[in-house]
Formats: sequence, C-alpha cells, structure tokens
Amino acid sequence: MTSINEESNQEPQRLDFIRQIVAEDCEKGTWGGRVHTRFPPEPNGYLHIGHAKSICLNYGIAAQFGGKFNLRFDDTNPCKEEQEYVDSIIEDVRWLGADWEDRLFFGSDYFQQMYDWAVDLIKKGKAYVCDLTAEQTREYRGTLTQPGKNSPWRDRSIEENLDLFTRMKEGQFPDGARTLKAKIDMAHPNLNMRDPVMYRILHASHHRTKDNWCIYPMYDWAHGLEDSIEGITHSICTLEFENHRPLYDWFLDQLDIYHPRQIEFARLNLTNTVMSKRKLLQLVKDRHVSGWDDPRMPTLCGLRRRGYSPQAIQNFCKVIGVNKFNSTVDFSLLEHCLREDLNKTSPRAMAVLNPLRVVITNYPEGQTEELDAVNNPEDLAAGTRKVPFSKVLYIEQEDFMENPPKKFFRLAPGREVRLRYAYFIKCRQVIKDQSGSIVELHCTFDPDTRGGDAPDGRKVKATIHWVSAAHAINAEVRLYDHLFTKENPDDAEDGQDFTANLNPDSLRILTGCKIEPALKNTKPLDRWQFERMGYFCTDSDSRDGRFVFNRTATLKDTWAKVQQKQS
Ligand code: ATP
Ligand code: MG
Repeated sequence: MTSINEESNQEPQRLDFIRQIVAEDCEKGTWGGRVHTRFPPEPNGYLHIGHAKSICLNYGIAAQFGGKFNLRFDDTNPCKEEQEYVDSIIEDVRWLGADWEDRLFFGSDYFQQMYDWAVDLIKKGKAYVCDLTAEQTREYRGTLTQPGKNSPWRDRSIEENLDLFTRMKEGQFPDGARTLKAKIDMAHPNLNMRDPVMYRILHASHHRTKDNWCIYPMYDWAHGLEDSIEGITHSICTLEFENHRPLYDWFLDQLDIYHPRQIEFARLNLTNTVMSKRKLLQLVKDRHVSGWDDPRMPTLCGLRRRGYSPQAIQNFCKVIGVNKFNSTVDFSLLEHCLREDLNKTSPRAMAVLNPLRVVITNYPEGQTEELDAVNNPEDLAAGTRKVPFSKVLYIEQEDFMENPPKKFFRLAPGREVRLRYAYFIKCRQVIKDQSGSIVELHCTFDPDTRGGDAPDGRKVKATIHWVSAAHAINAEVRLYDHLFTKENPDDAEDGQDFTANLNPDSLRILTGCKIEPALKNTKPLDRWQFERMGYFCTDSDSRDGRFVFNRTATLKDTWAKVQQKQS
C-alpha cells in the first residue's frame, strides 16, 4: 500500500495551517506528544472526492507526525443509515490508502456512555427534558437579530428531568413528544448555544443497535463525546462546523472529560459536479446515472471504476492543500493530477475506436509477424510486448482524409505514413460502397521500413496506430464527459433544480472497437493508455470475452490552458 504522505522523506515543505498547529502542539507537548486523528463519515451514502480530501488530511497528518488514525462511523441517525454504506466506505478508505490498523469504531457503540453522560449533565442542572414540539422549539430559538425565549419546561427539577429522561429511554413517549436539551443561554449570540437538543425520541431500528434505543443523540452532542472517548487530539472538520465549536467545547467542559481540539478547514468543491450525498443519492435514485459507481460520479467508487488511481487522488489532495476559505477547484486540475500519475504507470496499447479497414495489397496472404512494442516509454522496466501484424488492419477513421486540408498530415490518397512499431504504408486506392461511403483502403507497405524507419532516409509526417484485423479483440468503449454542463450545477433557472443542468452527452458508447490482443486477459480496473486516444480502464461489465473499456481521460491536458488564462 502506498503511503498517503511521503513528505516526511522529502525536502521540508511549507506546512499548511493545520499541520502548523499539530507541529506546535508536538513541540510544546500539548497532548503528551501524541497525534491522533480520525475520519468520521456518516454511513448515509458513498464517499466522494471531497471526503478524500478529509481522509488524506487526517491520515496524512497521523502518518507525518507518527500518530494514529481512526476510521469511525458517525452512525447516530438510524433513519438514513445502512450496512451497504458502511461496507462501501470501508472499501473506499482502504483503496485510497489510509490505514486505520485495528481502530475501526462506531459511534453507536458509545450510546450507553453518551446516555450516562447526559444523566450527569441533568444531575449538574445543565440539561432538561423539554416538551416543546419541533416547531415551537424553532420559534423559541429566536433569530440572528432577536434573542430566544426560555422554554416553559426549562426549570423542571433535576428529579423530574431524570425521571422523564429515563422514561424517554424506556419508550414511554411517542416520537417527537419530548427532547433532552442543554441548558445554556437562550439569548446567546450563537444560535447553536440556545439550549440545543441533545436527544430526540425516534422509534426507529438502527442498523447496528437494532431496537435497543428509541432515543438518539444529536450530532453536536455525540461528536465531541466520540472524539473524547477515542482520545483524538485534533478533531478536524469542515468550515460549517466553526459555529458549532463553542458547543463542542461546552459539552466537554461541562462533563469535565478529555477534550480534543476542533479545527475547521474549507471543504472541497469541484466544477461541473455536485458533492453532497443528498444530491448524489438523488442522481442514483432518479436513475440519472447507473449507480453510485457510475464512472461519471465524483464518488470514490465512481472514480475508481472510471480508472482513477489512489495515487492520482492523493496527489490532487496534496496539490489543492488546506485552507480556511471556501472555493471551487477546476475539474481539470484533478485530471491534470490523474494524467501525471497515469502517464508514469499505465501500460500502452493500441486500440482503434472508430475502425477503418486497410488491406495491405503487397503483404502475403495468411502471414503474421510479431513486432516489438514498448509497454511504457516512461518506465522502461515495463518491457516490451509482441504485436501481431498481418495483411488486413484497422486504423482510426479520423486518421484518413480523402481530400485533406493543408495541415492534415495523416493518411490520404497517394500519401505515405508510418504505422506505429511496424512499416511505412502508402494509400493506393479508396474503396467505397454504393452510397459513396468509404469502406476500405488499399495500401502497400515497404518491407525495408520494418520497425519504423526508411533506410533511404525518407521521412513521413505522421505515425498512426493500428490493430491487426485477424487478431483484434472486439470491445465496447464508453466515452465520458462532465456530468453537468454548468461549472456550478446549482445555478439553475427558477423552479428547476441542479438536474436541469445534467449534460445529455456525458456518456457516448462506441461499439465494434478493435483492441490489440495483448489485452485479452484484462481484468476490471486494469488501466491502459491507448496510444494517441487517451487513458482507459477495463470496466467491470467485461465478461466472457465481451470487453468494455471506460475512457478515464483524454491525453490533452486542459489544466495548462486554464493556468495560462489565469496568469
Ligand atoms: P455531504 O455534505 O456530502 O453529505 P457530510 O459532511 O454530511 O457530506 P460526512 O459523512 O459527515 O458527510 O463526512 C465525513 C467527513 O468528511 C466530515 O469530517 C466532513 O467534514 C468531511 N467532508 C465531507 N464533505 C467534504 C468536502 N467536500 N471536502 C472536505 N471534507 C469533506
Ligand atoms: Mg456530516
């Protein structure tokens, strides 16, 4: 497994603001020199690339400072959580390369401890059972400009609160009838501090604790307790929790228990996609995509199926860094990081996506030659392979033009080009069907140019790829584009939601593509560079000799252009 953070072995880099805090804490011995982080997903959806930023940050810090990293499911809401999500999250975090060793935890395992601590708060006069409905609670809370009002139930005796809270737990009241609230300050300038709800009644079955509980802790109450129980030192979360930090601190202070430090950073947003589990779920449920792992999805399983490598995503997370300001990262930066990795690691292959038949008229019928091809010019250790050559080949339709314009240097009537790793061929005749469409080219080859050079020194202006017809494997190739046409999909007309901006051309399927036979044993998730055509990945729909490839990315790097525009 690759380590997410290799910085420690390299020249020192400028630390981001969170690493600076951690480094200072280590120096001062704030946590006894310990560093302990966690990734706390709620199992209510699949992980997306935004979560990758959080995983790389938390795991990267633990790795860099010799600390520990926990994977913890924040599974305190029974309604939307499922085992399927737990399983997928475990798979995705592991795939990305973060290692929690034996520290896989579930918030729901702490329900009893949380309950006991709530009882402590009641006994300290810091929590009370409230009979206001959800709607009344909202009214009583006040607004940013107006203070709230005290609940009429705020001054119940400790005995009455203990009794009612016990009965809440025992299931004596219906959903929503009562809540347990923290007794803080209804006039507090921070609305989160206005007697927030700690527990609600919910007669719902939980994916792990089943029907043991009918009261469930709210996020703000539960999260700090989970961090405290696990001895987390730095509780890293996204900016929207900045306003919750006073509450996080208040609960831990009142209980007088181990108290981690919460630090907030800006969440990742990407252009041309959405990054909220709610919206991703909508895309899946309404069948705008084939599933959570549709290769167009920004989910980790979608990116994996599309052909992204963990390394590419790690590098991307390193490049974007961490800061305190929300911004949107251009998708082309992600693709740039992808290409940097795939260029180094993907074996090359020849594949013809839109085939045009070529007959080499002077090549002996029935003969096959094995030509040497380099597997990866960026990695000579990857070696070479044999590519079969024979009388009938396929080339890309776009590599031939009957009436070429000035700047078209590829194959044309009477013109000579190089076939990659093979010979020079010259186009002698264009064969058409009755409707006038080109069906086949007749070419001749020059036997003296084997391997790609002419002994007489004559030059050709283009090298094109090809596949031997008799040896080719047939494949379906899926070409992807952005899922949304707008950089910000939420920018929709009145009355429409983000799905109005779905890109109708985000998937194009090509069939009858011709791939060189070296790929006949390929397995799902194998990554390739199809020469001149882009990066591709074998899809899991491939089986029983039926091949499907996803285009991960084209070869053209648009990030360089974006940067030029910006500078
Ligand atoms: P979503 O908004 O997509 O539903 P969430 O925040 O509700 O995500 P959680 O399961 O609670 O999802 O997230 C787990 C962790 O990942 C949290 O610490 C959260 O702050 C972090 N996280 C979620 N989305 C992003 C993002 N876009 N960028 C960085 N970190 C994120
Ligand atoms: Mg959340």
